[in-house]
Amino acid sequence: MTDLRLHSPLQYVKGVGPRKAEVLAKYGMYTVSDLLWYFPRSYLDRSTIVPINQVKVDQMVTIVGQVKAHGILHGRRKRYEVILEDKTGAISLIWFQPLHYWSRVFKKGQWYAASGVVSYFMGHQIIHPDLGRLDDESDNMIHAGRIIPVYPQTSELNKVGLNSKGIRRLTTFVFEHLSETIPDYLPGEECRLHQLPSLHEAIYRIHYPDTRAQIETCRRRLAFDELLELQFLVFRSRRERETVRKNHRYRTSANVIGALIKKLPFELTTGQKQSIKEIINDLQQEQPMNRMLQGDVGCGKTLVAIAAAFYAAKNTLQTAFMAPTEILAEQHYRNWHDLLAEEGVTSALLTSSLSKAKKEQVAKACTEGEIDILFGTHALIYDYVSFKQLGLVIIDEQHRFGVKQRGKLYAKGENPDLLVMTATPIPRTLTLTLYGDLDISTIKDLPPGRKPVRTAWRTQEVREKVYAFVRDEIAKGGQVYIIYPIIEKSERIELENVEDAYRELSGGEFKGYRVGMVHGRIKPKERDDILKQFHDGELDILMATTVVEVGLDNPNATVMIIEHAERFGLAQLHQLRGRIGRGSKQATLIAIAHPPLTDIAKKRLEYFSQTTDGFKIAEADLELRGPGEMYGVKQSGLPELRAARLSTDRDLLEAARKLLVQLFTSVQSLDSTYRNLYTYLVKKTASRNVTLGGG
Ligand code: ADP
Ligand code: MG
Repeated sequence: MTDLRLHSPLQYVKGVGPRKAEVLAKYGMYTVSDLLWYFPRSYLDRSTIVPINQVKVDQMVTIVGQVKAHGILHGRRKRYEVILEDKTGAISLIWFQPLHYWSRVFKKGQWYAASGVVSYFMGHQIIHPDLGRLDDESDNMIHAGRIIPVYPQTSELNKVGLNSKGIRRLTTFVFEHLSETIPDYLPGEECRLHQLPSLHEAIYRIHYPDTRAQIETCRRRLAFDELLELQFLVFRSRRERETVRKNHRYRTSANVIGALIKKLPFELTTGQKQSIKEIINDLQQEQPMNRMLQGDVGCGKTLVAIAAAFYAAKNTLQTAFMAPTEILAEQHYRNWHDLLAEEGVTSALLTSSLSKAKKEQVAKACTEGEIDILFGTHALIYDYVSFKQLGLVIIDEQHRFGVKQRGKLYAKGENPDLLVMTATPIPRTLTLTLYGDLDISTIKDLPPGRKPVRTAWRTQEVREKVYAFVRDEIAKGGQVYIIYPIIEKSERIELENVEDAYRELSGGEFKGYRVGMVHGRIKPKERDDILKQFHDGELDILMATTVVEVGLDNPNATVMIIEHAERFGLAQLHQLRGRIGRGSKQATLIAIAHPPLTDIAKKRLEYFSQTTDGFKIAEADLELRGPGEMYGVKQSGLPELRAARLSTDRDLLEAARKLLVQLFTSVQSLDSTYRNLYTYLVKKTASRNVTLGGG
C-alpha cells in the first residue's frame, strides 16, 4: 500500500512513469504537493447538459457529442472549427487561436463534453468552449460529481495522456493515498473572519467540487494565501529599500524651478503641480526616490519629469532620461533643449542612429559632467555611457522596458533617484500588489481645451463610408492614422495586413494622396524618417502597426482608423487613441472589427467606445484579460497567481494587507499561531528575489 506524503515525488503516484514524470516536471510538477497546486482552468457542469437541438443563443450550456468533422475554416477570419454531433443535431465549436494546436487535438469519432455560451453565425456555435475529452458516450467523466474540473491542456500533456482526465486520475489516486492533512498556517481566527475553509478542504474541493458555490469559496481561500505571500514580498522589499541611503543631496530650495515654469506658454494643471511637489519632496529625502508618475496620454507628464531633471541640474546632479523610441527621445530633446539652455542647463541626445563619432563625443561630455540631462533610447544603457554624478534616472513609458534594461541604467549611478512614467494607468489593485513598494503620483486632469476623442466601433461593411470620411478630413487639412495589427506569418493571407492594404489603398481609394507606411520590419532610420514626415505634415495618411503606439505628438492628426480592432487589447486601443486628439480640434476614432467576434471582444469594443478615462479602461482591461500578461508580472520575480483574480479579489487583498501590517508591526505581541504564520512566510519567500515596479 503506497503511503503518499506531500513531498513525495510524483513517480510514486500510480500511472506516472518516466515519460509522464518528465512532462509533469516541465510544468513545474515534481511532488504530490505541486500536483495538488495545479488548479483546474475551468469546470464542466453536467447539470447544464442539453441536447444539441435544444440550445438557445446566449445560453450557457454543456453538450456531449462526437466529432463529425474538423478543420481550418478560411474566410475573412481564419478559425478552427469542430462539428460536434449528438443524436439530435450538430453544432460548431470555434477557436480563433492557436489554429495549429487545435488541428492536432481532434480526431473524427472522439467524444467530448463542451461548455460555453451559444452564439449564432451561419448556425449555432460556441466560441472558445471549455472542453473535456470522454472515452465514449457512456463515459461517466470519472468519479466526478456533477461538476468536472478541466485542467490546462497542451498537446505535450495530451501526448502522454495527461489531458484533463489523465490529471484527474492522478489527483484521485493522491487523495486516496495521502497520509497527511495539508498543514494550514493561516490562524483559524483569520479563516473565520474571512469565511474561508481550511487549506486541506480548499485544495480537495478545488479538484473535486460538489457545487459551483463551493469552487468559489475554495478559490478564495487559495487566492488569499497567494495574495498574502505576494504582499509579504512587497512589504519586505519596501522595508529593504527604506534602509538604503543615497550619497547625493539636494541643497537648493525648490523655488529654482520657478524660472523654468515661468517660461512656459501655459499654466500648469493641478495634477502637474501636485506631482512636481511630491517628486521634489522625495528628492529631498535621504532615501532614494522610487516613484511612478502615471497619467493619461497627453496629460503632460514630460514637463513634470523635466522639472525634476531641472531641479537636479541646479543641484549639480545629472539626469538620464530614457524613452522607448528614437522619435520620442528626439522629440523630448528638441522640445526642451533650448528652453533648458536659456536657464543654464545643458542637455544632449544619445541614440544608436547617431554617427560613431557623435556618440563618442556625447558620451565623453557626459562622463566629464558637461551634460546635465542626457536624453536617449536604449542606447543609454550601453557600457560606453557613464556619468560623473548621476542623481536622477527617468524612464518614460516604463512598461516598454524590461526589468533588466531599467536596472542597467539605474546601476550607472550610486543609488540614484528613480522616476518612471506610464500612460497605462495601473489599477489600484495592481498598485497595491505589484507596485506596492513604489510611491505613485497621479495626474488626473488634462490641460484645458482638450476634447475627448469621439470613438465608435463598426464592422467592415461600412468601410467605404469611413474612407469617404477620411478624404473629407484631409480636405479640411487633417491627418489620418490607419492602424493594422501585427500579423504572424502563418495567418497572413487571411487578414488585412499593413503592407497589402498599403498597396491596395495607395493605388485605389487614396490614390493621389500622400500615404506613408511604417511597421516593425522597416529599418529604424527609415521608419523615423516617415514618422517625421507625418509629424511635419508632409503625409496625409500614415498606415502603421502599433509602432506608433507610444508617445508621438502630432496635434494635427485628427482621425484614426483601427483595422481588426477585435485583435487589440483594451489598454492598447486606448494607447493608440492617445495619438490623436492632442490639439484643439475634435478628433475621431473608428475601430473596425471583423466578425465573427467573441463575447469578450465585443465587450472590449463596446467599453472602449464608451469611455475615454484611462483609469476606468485600465480596471476593465484587468477584468477582461487577467493580470498575467500585463505590467511585467512575469518578469518581476513575484509568484504566479493561480487562484487570485486581482479584478474581483480586492477585499481579499485588503484583508491580506491588514494581516501583514499586524505581522510586520507587532508580531511579538500576537498569538503564537500568528507568529508561526510570520515564520512560515519568511521561510517560504526566503529564496525569492523580486524586482518590483521601477527598480
Ligand atoms: P504625456 O503625459 O502623454 O507624456 P506630454 O508630456 O507629451 O504628455 O504632453 C502633451 C502635450 O501637452 C505637449 O504638447 C505639451 O506641451 C502639452 N502640455 C503639457 N502641459 C500642458 C499644460 N499645462 N497646458 C497646456 N498644454 C500642456
Ligand atoms: Mg509621454
